[in-house]
Amino acid sequence: MGESKRVDEAATLTGDRQPGIPDSMRAIVLHDVMKWSLDTVPVPEVPDGGMLVRVLACGLCGSDLRTIRSGHRHVRFPWVLGHEICGDVVALGTGYTGRWRIADRLSIGPVVYDPGDPYCVEGRHELSANVREIGQQWPGGLAEYIAIPAESVAMGNILPAPEALEPEYAAIVEPGSSVVHAHERARTTIGDTVLVMGSGPIGCLHVAIARASGADRVFMSDIVAARLDLARAFEPDAIIDASREDVAARVAELTDGLGPTVVITANPSPQAPVDAVKMVAKGGRVVLFGGLPHGDSTPGVDLNIVHYQNIELIGLSRFAPRHFRRSLALLASGRVPGRKLVTHTLPLDDADAGIRAALDGTALKVVFKP
Ligand SMILES: [Zn+2]
Repeated sequence: MGESKRVDEAATLTGDRQPGIPDSMRAIVLHDVMKWSLDTVPVPEVPDGGMLVRVLACGLCGSDLRTIRSGHRHVRFPWVLGHEICGDVVALGTGYTGRWRIADRLSIGPVVYDPGDPYCVEGRHELSANVREIGQQWPGGLAEYIAIPAESVAMGNILPAPEALEPEYAAIVEPGSSVVHAHERARTTIGDTVLVMGSGPIGCLHVAIARASGADRVFMSDIVAARLDLARAFEPDAIIDASREDVAARVAELTDGLGPTVVITANPSPQAPVDAVKMVAKGGRVVLFGGLPHGDSTPGVDLNIVHYQNIELIGLSRFAPRHFRRSLALLASGRVPGRKLVTHTLPLDDADAGIRAALDGTALKVVFKP
Protein backbone atom coordinates (compact mmCIF):
# COMPACT_ATOMS: atom_id res chain seq x y z
CA MET A 1 0.00 0.00 0.00
CA GLY A 2 2.78 2.40 1.01
CA GLU A 3 4.61 1.51 -2.18
CA SER A 4 1.75 2.47 -4.54
CA LYS A 5 1.32 5.79 -2.75
CA ARG A 6 5.00 6.57 -3.28
CA VAL A 7 4.83 5.82 -7.00
CA ASP A 8 1.82 8.15 -7.37
CA GLU A 9 3.64 10.87 -5.52
CA ALA A 10 6.73 10.41 -7.66
CA ALA A 11 4.64 10.65 -10.82
CA THR A 12 3.60 14.17 -9.91
CA LEU A 13 7.26 15.09 -9.49
CA THR A 14 8.42 13.86 -12.87
CA GLY A 15 9.89 16.65 -14.90
CA ASP A 16 9.83 18.91 -11.85
CA ARG A 17 12.51 21.61 -11.89
CA GLN A 18 13.46 24.75 -10.07
CA PRO A 19 13.16 27.94 -12.12
CA GLY A 20 16.27 29.79 -13.21
CA ILE A 21 18.52 26.89 -14.24
CA PRO A 22 20.86 28.38 -16.85
CA ASP A 23 21.84 26.77 -20.17
CA SER A 24 25.56 27.00 -19.61
CA MET A 25 27.87 26.66 -16.65
CA ARG A 26 31.51 26.76 -15.68
CA ALA A 27 33.46 23.54 -15.19
CA ILE A 28 37.06 22.48 -14.69
CA VAL A 29 37.64 20.50 -17.87
CA LEU A 30 40.55 18.09 -18.16
CA HIS A 31 41.66 18.20 -21.82
CA ASP A 32 44.62 15.87 -21.56
CA VAL A 33 47.13 14.59 -19.04
CA MET A 34 48.21 17.62 -16.94
CA LYS A 35 46.10 19.97 -19.11
CA TRP A 36 43.00 21.56 -17.65
CA SER A 37 41.08 24.81 -17.99
CA LEU A 38 38.04 26.54 -16.55
CA ASP A 39 35.57 26.35 -19.45
CA THR A 40 31.98 27.35 -20.15
CA VAL A 41 30.03 24.23 -21.11
CA PRO A 42 26.32 23.31 -21.41
CA VAL A 43 24.48 22.47 -18.19
CA PRO A 44 23.87 18.69 -18.36
CA GLU A 45 20.44 17.38 -19.38
CA VAL A 46 18.36 16.03 -16.53
CA PRO A 47 18.81 12.26 -16.95
CA ASP A 48 15.72 10.03 -17.18
CA GLY A 49 15.08 8.71 -13.69
CA GLY A 50 17.91 10.86 -12.36
CA MET A 51 18.46 14.31 -10.93
CA LEU A 52 20.18 17.56 -11.74
CA VAL A 53 22.13 18.87 -8.76
CA ARG A 54 23.62 22.31 -8.24
CA VAL A 55 27.09 21.65 -6.87
CA LEU A 56 27.90 23.49 -3.63
CA ALA A 57 31.22 21.76 -3.00
CA CYS A 58 33.35 19.13 -4.70
CA GLY A 59 36.53 17.60 -3.28
CA LEU A 60 39.64 16.80 -5.24
CA CYS A 61 40.52 13.18 -4.55
CA GLY A 62 43.78 11.23 -4.80
CA SER A 63 42.28 9.26 -7.69
CA ASP A 64 41.42 12.54 -9.50
CA LEU A 65 45.07 13.52 -9.13
CA ARG A 66 46.18 10.19 -10.61
CA THR A 67 43.87 10.78 -13.59
CA ILE A 68 45.21 14.32 -14.01
CA ARG A 69 48.78 12.99 -13.90
CA SER A 70 48.44 9.91 -16.09
CA GLY A 71 44.86 9.45 -17.35
CA HIS A 72 42.42 6.66 -16.52
CA ARG A 73 41.22 3.66 -18.52
CA HIS A 74 37.55 4.76 -18.17
CA VAL A 75 38.14 8.45 -18.89
CA ARG A 76 38.17 9.97 -22.41
CA PHE A 77 39.27 13.61 -22.74
CA PRO A 78 37.85 16.20 -22.55
CA TRP A 79 36.37 15.23 -19.19
CA VAL A 80 35.01 16.73 -15.98
CA LEU A 81 36.41 15.01 -12.87
CA GLY A 82 35.22 15.19 -9.26
CA HIS A 83 33.31 12.62 -7.26
CA GLU A 84 33.12 13.98 -3.71
CA ILE A 85 30.04 16.14 -3.99
CA CYS A 86 27.60 18.14 -1.90
CA GLY A 87 24.79 19.87 -3.72
CA ASP A 88 21.12 20.82 -3.91
CA VAL A 89 18.61 18.99 -6.10
CA VAL A 90 17.27 21.41 -8.74
CA ALA A 91 15.49 19.10 -11.21
CA LEU A 92 14.09 15.57 -11.41
CA GLY A 93 14.15 13.52 -14.61
CA THR A 94 11.31 11.79 -16.43
CA GLY A 95 10.30 8.60 -14.65
CA TYR A 96 12.10 9.58 -11.45
CA THR A 97 11.10 7.38 -8.50
CA GLY A 98 13.83 8.25 -5.99
CA ARG A 99 13.32 9.55 -2.48
CA TRP A 100 14.96 12.96 -2.90
CA ARG A 101 13.00 16.10 -3.70
CA ILE A 102 13.74 19.51 -5.20
CA ALA A 103 15.86 21.64 -2.83
CA ASP A 104 17.12 18.66 -0.81
CA ARG A 105 20.77 19.07 0.10
CA LEU A 106 22.66 15.85 -0.56
CA SER A 107 25.99 14.29 0.12
CA ILE A 108 26.85 12.30 -3.00
CA GLY A 109 29.51 9.62 -3.32
CA PRO A 110 30.71 8.20 -6.62
CA VAL A 111 30.30 4.44 -6.42
CA VAL A 112 27.26 2.86 -8.08
CA TYR A 113 26.78 -0.83 -7.32
CA ASP A 114 25.18 -3.50 -9.45
CA PRO A 115 22.08 -4.54 -7.49
CA GLY A 116 22.02 -7.97 -9.15
CA ASP A 117 25.56 -8.83 -8.19
CA PRO A 118 25.75 -11.86 -5.85
CA TYR A 119 28.08 -9.98 -3.48
CA CYS A 120 25.57 -7.13 -3.13
CA VAL A 121 22.95 -9.70 -2.24
CA GLU A 122 25.33 -10.78 0.55
CA GLY A 123 25.73 -7.18 1.75
CA ARG A 124 29.32 -7.05 0.50
CA HIS A 125 28.81 -4.28 -2.03
CA GLU A 126 32.53 -3.52 -2.07
CA LEU A 127 33.09 -6.80 -3.91
CA SER A 128 30.42 -6.18 -6.56
CA ALA A 129 31.90 -6.74 -10.02
CA ASN A 130 30.19 -4.17 -12.22
CA VAL A 131 30.84 -1.13 -10.09
CA ARG A 132 30.58 2.19 -11.92
CA GLU A 133 31.56 5.63 -10.70
CA ILE A 134 30.50 9.22 -11.07
CA GLY A 135 33.58 11.03 -12.39
CA GLN A 136 34.58 7.97 -14.45
CA GLN A 137 31.58 6.55 -16.32
CA TRP A 138 29.56 9.73 -15.76
CA PRO A 139 30.92 13.32 -15.77
CA GLY A 140 31.94 14.60 -12.35
CA GLY A 141 31.23 17.46 -10.00
CA LEU A 142 34.00 20.01 -10.61
CA ALA A 143 31.31 22.16 -12.22
CA GLU A 144 28.33 24.29 -11.26
CA TYR A 145 25.86 21.47 -12.02
CA ILE A 146 26.06 17.70 -12.20
CA ALA A 147 23.66 15.10 -13.61
CA ILE A 148 23.10 12.27 -11.16
CA PRO A 149 22.13 9.17 -13.16
CA ALA A 150 19.17 6.92 -12.35
CA GLU A 151 21.62 4.12 -11.47
CA SER A 152 23.11 6.25 -8.71
CA VAL A 153 19.69 7.24 -7.38
CA ALA A 154 18.79 3.54 -7.22
CA MET A 155 22.03 1.95 -6.00
CA GLY A 156 24.63 4.59 -5.29
CA ASN A 157 25.82 6.50 -2.27
CA ILE A 158 23.49 9.42 -1.65
CA LEU A 159 22.47 10.72 1.76
CA PRO A 160 20.86 13.92 3.02
CA ALA A 161 23.58 16.31 4.13
CA PRO A 162 23.00 17.39 7.73
CA GLU A 163 21.99 21.05 7.87
CA ALA A 164 24.69 21.99 10.37
CA LEU A 165 27.49 20.47 8.28
CA GLU A 166 29.15 22.89 5.86
CA PRO A 167 28.97 21.74 2.21
CA GLU A 168 32.77 21.48 1.96
CA TYR A 169 32.71 18.81 4.65
CA ALA A 170 29.48 17.13 3.53
CA ALA A 171 31.23 16.66 0.15
CA ILE A 172 34.13 14.58 1.42
CA VAL A 173 32.31 11.56 2.84
CA GLU A 174 33.75 9.12 0.28
CA PRO A 175 37.41 8.99 1.33
CA GLY A 176 36.40 8.29 4.93
CA SER A 177 34.12 5.45 3.83
CA SER A 178 36.98 3.11 2.90
CA VAL A 179 38.73 4.05 6.14
CA VAL A 180 35.61 3.17 8.16
CA HIS A 181 35.55 -0.13 6.26
CA ALA A 182 39.22 -0.73 7.17
CA HIS A 183 38.61 -0.33 10.90
CA GLU A 184 35.50 -2.48 10.72
CA ARG A 185 37.58 -5.27 9.14
CA ALA A 186 40.50 -4.70 11.55
CA ARG A 187 38.03 -4.69 14.47
CA THR A 188 39.80 -1.65 15.91
CA THR A 189 38.57 -1.06 19.47
CA ILE A 190 39.47 -0.27 23.09
CA GLY A 191 42.89 -1.72 23.95
CA ASP A 192 44.30 -1.32 20.46
CA THR A 193 47.41 0.61 19.54
CA VAL A 194 47.38 1.57 15.88
CA LEU A 195 50.25 2.51 13.58
CA VAL A 196 49.25 4.40 10.43
CA MET A 197 52.01 4.30 7.80
CA GLY A 198 51.42 7.35 5.61
CA SER A 199 50.31 10.86 6.51
CA GLY A 200 48.33 11.99 3.46
CA PRO A 201 44.62 12.80 3.77
CA ILE A 202 43.87 9.08 4.02
CA GLY A 203 46.43 8.61 6.79
CA CYS A 204 44.85 11.53 8.67
CA LEU A 205 41.41 9.94 8.29
CA HIS A 206 42.84 6.72 9.72
CA VAL A 207 44.06 8.57 12.80
CA ALA A 208 40.64 10.13 13.40
CA ILE A 209 38.64 6.99 12.67
CA ALA A 210 40.93 4.66 14.66
CA ARG A 211 40.33 7.02 17.61
CA ALA A 212 36.59 7.10 16.98
CA SER A 213 36.69 3.28 16.96
CA GLY A 214 38.14 3.33 20.48
CA ALA A 215 41.87 2.78 19.92
CA ASP A 216 43.95 3.66 22.98
CA ARG A 217 46.78 5.26 21.01
CA VAL A 218 47.44 6.04 17.34
CA PHE A 219 50.89 6.57 15.85
CA MET A 220 51.71 7.91 12.42
CA SER A 221 54.82 7.49 10.28
CA ASP A 222 55.89 8.87 6.91
CA ILE A 223 59.06 9.20 4.89
CA VAL A 224 58.12 12.76 3.83
CA ALA A 225 58.65 15.14 6.76
CA ALA A 226 56.66 17.97 5.13
CA ARG A 227 53.60 15.74 4.89
CA LEU A 228 53.90 14.84 8.57
CA ASP A 229 53.78 18.55 9.36
CA LEU A 230 50.39 18.90 7.63
CA ALA A 231 49.12 15.86 9.54
CA ARG A 232 50.07 17.27 12.95
CA ALA A 233 46.64 18.88 13.25
CA PHE A 234 45.21 15.38 13.74
CA GLU A 235 47.33 15.03 16.89
CA PRO A 236 48.57 11.47 16.62
CA ASP A 237 50.07 10.20 19.89
CA ALA A 238 53.43 9.93 18.15
CA ILE A 239 54.71 11.24 14.84
CA ILE A 240 57.60 9.23 13.40
CA ASP A 241 59.73 10.71 10.62
CA ALA A 242 60.87 7.60 8.78
CA SER A 243 63.49 9.60 6.84
CA ARG A 244 65.40 10.12 10.10
CA GLU A 245 64.15 7.56 12.59
CA ASP A 246 63.98 3.76 12.72
CA VAL A 247 60.19 3.32 12.75
CA ALA A 248 60.32 -0.27 14.03
CA ALA A 249 62.55 0.66 16.97
CA ARG A 250 60.44 3.69 17.88
CA VAL A 251 57.20 1.76 17.66
CA ALA A 252 58.63 -1.08 19.78
CA GLU A 253 59.68 1.48 22.38
CA LEU A 254 56.22 3.06 22.39
CA THR A 255 54.54 -0.32 22.93
CA ASP A 256 56.86 -1.89 25.54
CA GLY A 257 58.34 -4.12 22.86
CA LEU A 258 54.99 -5.65 21.89
CA GLY A 259 54.28 -3.75 18.67
CA PRO A 260 51.02 -2.09 17.63
CA THR A 261 48.01 -4.39 17.51
CA VAL A 262 46.87 -2.83 14.23
CA VAL A 263 49.11 -1.54 11.41
CA ILE A 264 47.63 0.28 8.40
CA THR A 265 49.63 0.73 5.18
CA ALA A 266 48.20 4.03 3.94
CA ASN A 267 50.75 4.56 1.16
CA PRO A 268 51.71 2.96 -2.18
CA SER A 269 55.15 1.67 -1.15
CA PRO A 270 55.83 -2.08 -1.66
CA GLN A 271 58.12 -1.87 1.38
CA ALA A 272 55.21 -0.93 3.68
CA PRO A 273 53.62 -4.41 3.98
CA VAL A 274 57.07 -5.95 4.52
CA ASP A 275 57.74 -3.58 7.42
CA ALA A 276 54.17 -3.76 8.74
CA VAL A 277 54.38 -7.53 9.23
CA LYS A 278 57.68 -7.13 11.10
CA MET A 279 56.34 -4.39 13.37
CA VAL A 280 52.83 -5.58 14.23
CA ALA A 281 52.19 -7.27 17.60
CA LYS A 282 51.75 -11.03 17.79
CA GLY A 283 48.18 -11.84 16.88
CA GLY A 284 47.83 -8.38 15.36
CA ARG A 285 46.14 -7.19 12.19
CA VAL A 286 47.80 -5.63 9.17
CA VAL A 287 45.47 -3.74 6.84
CA LEU A 288 46.82 -3.47 3.28
CA PHE A 289 45.04 -0.20 2.52
CA GLY A 290 47.28 1.32 -0.13
CA GLY A 291 47.36 -0.30 -3.55
CA LEU A 292 50.87 -0.97 -4.90
CA PRO A 293 52.26 0.15 -8.27
CA HIS A 294 51.53 -2.14 -11.23
CA GLY A 295 54.50 -4.42 -11.80
CA ASP A 296 55.75 -3.92 -8.26
CA SER A 297 53.05 -5.60 -6.21
CA THR A 298 54.80 -8.78 -5.02
CA PRO A 299 56.95 -7.60 -2.12
CA GLY A 300 58.91 -10.11 -0.04
CA VAL A 301 56.59 -10.30 2.97
CA ASP A 302 57.93 -12.86 5.46
CA LEU A 303 54.97 -15.20 5.69
CA ASN A 304 56.63 -17.23 8.43
CA ILE A 305 56.14 -14.20 10.69
CA VAL A 306 52.49 -14.17 9.62
CA HIS A 307 52.27 -17.91 10.28
CA TYR A 308 54.13 -18.28 13.59
CA GLN A 309 52.86 -15.05 15.09
CA ASN A 310 49.23 -15.54 14.11
CA ILE A 311 49.00 -12.31 12.19
CA GLU A 312 45.98 -11.39 10.10
CA LEU A 313 46.66 -9.80 6.72
CA ILE A 314 43.57 -7.86 5.66
CA GLY A 315 43.16 -6.75 2.05
CA LEU A 316 41.02 -3.64 1.76
CA SER A 317 39.52 -1.86 -1.17
CA ARG A 318 36.28 0.08 -1.69
CA PHE A 319 33.33 0.22 0.69
CA ALA A 320 29.63 -0.56 1.08
CA PRO A 321 26.76 1.92 1.57
CA ARG A 322 26.83 1.46 5.37
CA HIS A 323 30.42 2.71 5.45
CA PHE A 324 29.40 5.84 3.53
CA ARG A 325 26.61 6.40 6.06
CA ARG A 326 29.02 6.02 9.00
CA SER A 327 31.60 8.27 7.42
CA LEU A 328 29.01 11.04 7.06
CA ALA A 329 27.99 10.58 10.71
CA LEU A 330 31.64 10.92 11.77
CA LEU A 331 31.99 14.19 9.85
CA ALA A 332 28.67 15.51 11.16
CA SER A 333 29.66 14.84 14.78
CA GLY A 334 33.14 16.30 14.33
CA ARG A 335 34.85 13.01 15.25
CA VAL A 336 36.36 13.33 11.79
CA PRO A 337 37.39 17.00 11.84
CA GLY A 338 36.58 18.20 8.33
CA ARG A 339 38.04 21.62 9.02
CA LYS A 340 41.46 20.05 9.74
CA LEU A 341 41.33 17.83 6.67
CA VAL A 342 40.21 20.50 4.19
CA THR A 343 43.19 22.85 4.05
CA HIS A 344 42.01 24.63 0.87
CA THR A 345 38.44 25.76 0.09
CA LEU A 346 38.50 27.53 -3.27
CA PRO A 347 36.21 28.92 -5.99
CA LEU A 348 36.45 27.35 -9.47
CA ASP A 349 38.38 30.47 -10.53
CA ASP A 350 41.28 29.15 -8.47
CA ALA A 351 41.32 25.81 -10.30
CA ASP A 352 45.00 26.18 -11.13
CA ALA A 353 46.15 26.99 -7.62
CA GLY A 354 44.00 24.26 -6.07
CA ILE A 355 45.03 21.49 -8.44
CA ARG A 356 48.70 22.44 -8.15
CA ALA A 357 48.57 22.53 -4.32
CA ALA A 358 47.03 19.07 -4.32
CA LEU A 359 49.52 17.73 -6.88
CA ASP A 360 52.60 19.01 -5.06
CA GLY A 361 51.34 17.95 -1.62
CA THR A 362 51.20 21.41 -0.03
CA ALA A 363 47.45 20.83 0.49
CA LEU A 364 45.98 18.03 2.55
CA LYS A 365 42.53 18.22 0.94
CA VAL A 366 41.33 20.70 -1.67
CA VAL A 367 37.60 21.39 -2.02
CA PHE A 368 36.14 23.60 -4.73
CA LYS A 369 32.98 25.61 -4.12
CA PRO A 370 31.48 26.46 -7.52
ZN1 LIG B 1 37.65 10.07 -3.73
